Amino acid sequence: MVVHTTDKKKVTGTNFSCFQAGKFSELGQYEFKHPKLEKPTHGKLLVKDNLGLTGMQVSLNRFPAGRSMPFTHSHKENEELYIFVGGKGQMLIDREIIEVSEGTCIRVGTRGVRAWRNNSNEDLYFICVQAKENSLHQDTLDDGVAGGAPSWD
Ligand code: ZN
Repeated sequence: MVVHTTDKKKVTGTNFSCFQAGKFSELGQYEFKHPKLEKPTHGKLLVKDNLGLTGMQVSLNRFPAGRSMPFTHSHKENEELYIFVGGKGQMLIDREIIEVSEGTCIRVGTRGVRAWRNNSNEDLYFICVQAKENSLHQDTLDDGVAGGAPSWD
């Protein structure tokens, strides 16, 4: 049995890839360049390329206190799931505002015009998953195949 620790940044095996992104509170170490912004921002990490994901993109986000997205966006093909894991803020979708905090999960369809802001005085943390809208044809019990008891040694 091979035991991998997560002190290495990346570990891959036959049927998996593992990437240690670090603590969410330290996501500021990652730089993100958006073509609409003059300067790179910090605190957004896209994990698709680090893991070789093939059906989704996922970002880990730390959004500082007091910051607002300077522009809205929608999507061409992908729906998005925002999972808020810490802090407080607001999500604007079309003309509606949703208060968000740890545990808030929001799906936004392709055409939803969205933005978020952190109107609190602590950092806001969220995970965003995007995948092609209407592409999921089976999941969980329809797709999972139960096997035998796990052997840990
Ligand atoms: Zn998006």
